[in-house]
Amino acid sequence: MSLTVYRRKRDFAHTPEPRGRARKSAVRLSFVIQRHAATRLHYDFRLELDGVLKSWAVPREPKPLVGEKRLAVHVEDHPLEYGGFHGVIPEGHYGAGRVEIWDRGWWEPVGDPRAEYRKGSLKFVLHGRRLRGGWALVRMRPRPDDPRDRGKDNWLLIKERDKERERPRATRARPAPAPTRTRAR
Ligand code: MN
Repeated sequence: MSLTVYRRKRDFAHTPEPRGRARKSAVRLSFVIQRHAATRLHYDFRLELDGVLKSWAVPREPKPLVGEKRLAVHVEDHPLEYGGFHGVIPEGHYGAGRVEIWDRGWWEPVGDPRAEYRKGSLKFVLHGRRLRGGWALVRMRPRPDDPRDRGKDNWLLIKERDKERERPRATRARPAPAPTRTRAR
C-alpha cells in the first residue's frame, strides 16, 4: 500500500511526524491508538497490515464495553514508524495539535484480514493495555443523500463479546524473566 496520500498532506521539513516507508510486517501485528488534540479531539486507531498502518479517526474515546459502538472514519494509510510518534504537530500544519500514545500493543485477525478489510468487515482481538479482547471494524453503507457522508468512508468500531480463548490469560501477564547478563565481548 502506498503512503502517497499521507505524504502529500504533510511538509516533513516542518512537522516532527515521520516520513516513513512501507515495510515488511513483523510476525506480531502491531496496533496503536493515538489521542490527537487537533481542532477536534479524536483517537487515531491504527492496525498494522501489509507493512503500513491502516487508520481510522474515532471522534469519541473507545470503551471496552461489549456492544459499544464508535464512529471510525477511515483515513489514509500511515507508515509503521507513525506508531511510535507522539509530539506536537505545529500550528498551520495538517493535524496541528498534540499527539499522545493512548494505547498500543498487538492485534490478531480472526479471519483473513486482507479479504475482510477489503470487504469492510474486519474482526480481530486486541492485546493492548486499555483495549483487549474481541473487536470489529465494519464499514457503514454510504448514504448518498446525506451531505455529511460526502467524501467520507465511515466505519463503526464495535466491542464484541470475548470468546473464552480470547480472554487475556493470566500466564501472559507474568513478567518476563530478568535478562541474564552476558559478558561483553
Ligand atoms: Mn489524527
